[in-house]
Amino acid sequence: MIVLTDVSRTYPGGVAALDSVSLEVRHGELVAIVGPSGSGKSTMLNVVGTLDRPSAGRVEIDGHDVSKLSDNQLSALRATTIGFVFQHFHLAAKVTALDNVADGLIYTGLPPAERRRRAGTALRRVGLGHRVDHEPHELSGGERQRVAIARAVAGDPPLLLADEPTGALDSVSGAGVMDLLHELNGSGTTIVIITHDREIAAGLPRQVSMRDGRIVSDSGSEPGAERRGRGEEGGGRCVREPVESEVA
Ligand code: ADP
Repeated sequence: MIVLTDVSRTYPGGVAALDSVSLEVRHGELVAIVGPSGSGKSTMLNVVGTLDRPSAGRVEIDGHDVSKLSDNQLSALRATTIGFVFQHFHLAAKVTALDNVADGLIYTGLPPAERRRRAGTALRRVGLGHRVDHEPHELSGGERQRVAIARAVAGDPPLLLADEPTGALDSVSGAGVMDLLHELNGSGTTIVIITHDREIAAGLPRQVSMRDGRIVSDSGSEPGAERRGRGEEGGGRCVREPVESEVA
């Protein structure tokens, strides 16, 4: 799903936020990225999420060499392949949960009624079928993060990237969000989670530790992750692959 080969990202001024990082994440894995503040975790997630291009090295996402794609093709790859979840939810204020999720499907070109139908399905999937008409300020932190996760998975992306998804939540809500991420992984979604919470990281099958832009330890790829990957357990996911004209 993800192959980084000798990837570096140097910011103007010479900060090597990533320093020759190589990492392989297979379909169906659930991986924690841990490390102190400033160790390069967010930079790595941005590079993997194709929001940022590396200064050197090769990034492959779902078989696509990112360096060979134009900005439009990258947007298409992102829209069809990657869901993002952030610490502070990034929901639109004064917009219902249903429309927050439905608006995340605008790229699909589906008619609004179908986008809203899929949004309802995604919200039920995260246990919020009874909150579809609530606006973010009428939801708890944990519920807001569930809406954000519903938005991230409504288009059935094979890869979910989460940057401190529990960082703004109390421990009970955080545990609920982690249970949900485990469930999504169980139905085949590959998930990479940045966390500074050692306990959360310890509960995940694989931990990759970073320091000073380098990977300093990796508990390793989970045996069988590939087998558990897309479609083979019939998790009901319907992945829309980017079509040739979009990414090739
Ligand atoms: P983490 O997510 O582990 O806290 P980051 O990836 O955000 O680490 O940052 C890694 C390093 O890169 C830090 O030294 C940070 O100051 C630097 N950095 C991050 N973003 C920028 C930027 N836009 N410009 C310059 N330096 C940056």
